[in-house]
Amino acid sequence: MGIATFTSLGLSPALAQACTSAGFAAPSPIQAQAIPALLLGRDLLGLAPTGSGKTAAFALPLLQRLAAGPQRFPRRVRVLVLVPTRELAAQVGDVFLSLGRSAARRLKVEVVHGGVSINPQMMALRGGADVVVATPGRLLDLLDHNALRLDSVESLVLDEADRLLDLGFAAERDRVLAALPAQRQNLLFSATFPPEVQALADSLLRDAVRVEAASQVEAIPEIEHRAIAVDAGRRTELLRHLVAQQRRWQRMLVFVATRYATEHVTRKLVARGVHAAALHGQMSQSQRTSVLQDLREGAVSVVVTTDLAARGIDVPGLDMVVNYDLPRSPADYVHRVGRTARAGLRGVAVSFVSAATDAHMRLIEQQNTLRLVREQVAGFEPVELQPPVRPDAGSGGIKGKRPSKKDKLRAAAAKLAGGG
Ligand code: ADP
Ligand code: MG
Repeated sequence: MGIATFTSLGLSPALAQACTSAGFAAPSPIQAQAIPALLLGRDLLGLAPTGSGKTAAFALPLLQRLAAGPQRFPRRVRVLVLVPTRELAAQVGDVFLSLGRSAARRLKVEVVHGGVSINPQMMALRGGADVVVATPGRLLDLLDHNALRLDSVESLVLDEADRLLDLGFAAERDRVLAALPAQRQNLLFSATFPPEVQALADSLLRDAVRVEAASQVEAIPEIEHRAIAVDAGRRTELLRHLVAQQRRWQRMLVFVATRYATEHVTRKLVARGVHAAALHGQMSQSQRTSVLQDLREGAVSVVVTTDLAARGIDVPGLDMVVNYDLPRSPADYVHRVGRTARAGLRGVAVSFVSAATDAHMRLIEQQNTLRLVREQVAGFEPVELQPPVRPDAGSGGIKGKRPSKKDKLRAAAAKLAGGG
């Protein structure tokens, strides 16, 4: 393919200009492949790595189709975007607003999600909206209140589709689908797409274009994957050590397994003067929103979170993702580490591995075709993994020829200390 431009893909000069204003020099591969098909109204399954610009890949052509259609009052919801988390809903809504700003006709974009009072959302939906970005639960509440109608939806987008096709969302999703007209455009986007959800995709999509930019983590050379062997009980100290090596402006996202751990680890960091904050699902929505905003603005440099923040969240300049607790599944690994190295920038993904979790890490590596040496950091060498020290073993390299294991570990630690 030659060098595509946004206009050569069929987008209007106004939208191409909006891309320039957003700092997009050229379409990303998923954008180049998806936009022409979506402008034609095709269904689409879009698989592309984290941080590759999937949001604009659907927002741009849908905005163009919205601008072309007839205007009706009250407005009818013509585009419905479903996302799994509130934070992602807000973020996707912002992309529609900023790229659509230049449109000749003002488009109305409404973001609806739980955790905030429903009344303002009901008010906002009076008179309709062109685009609704929603989490499924709140959307259903609004339908139950007759606050909006979905019978004019022309395009349905499932972002983070495999998550939305998950069992957890199944009942809500099916009720939403039942409220939609049968005749519509369907778009599914994700960075991971386990085979189990293929059947659901098949039932949803008609004559779909399948755009599959290499979607594995190995297709993101900008992510430097690392695994550090450390005893579970020393992870917080090691984290503090890593934070201390960070440069001032750097930002870090730390994933832990539980809400309790987000708060516990955050407290320990804050006690050492680190600008850290916890982010989890039991916090109030205004707290959740302000934590992410603080991270984006640099008021906070470390956010300790659960898998709540694993999907879709785009924080430009996030340099490092730490798996303090390992993710449950290899796909979760992809999404977590994909919060860094976005839009071609570099990032480091560090996983803490203990004797007890080493086998699980190997599984994650295997599924993602990664092979990571277990680094050790000086002062944090795991006791559980250390081979028994033989009294006759010297501390230097063997006969000065090949570097000993210890030398390698030291080199790895030094590399880490140098920062990435
Ligand atoms: P994905 O959904 O694929 O994970 P996003 O849509 O969140 O990725 O985009 C990731 C980042 O890349 C965002 O900050 C976005 O503004 C930026 N971006 C999107 N398209 C382009 C482009 N064509 N050129 C440069 N940056 C882009
Ligand atoms: Mg996305």
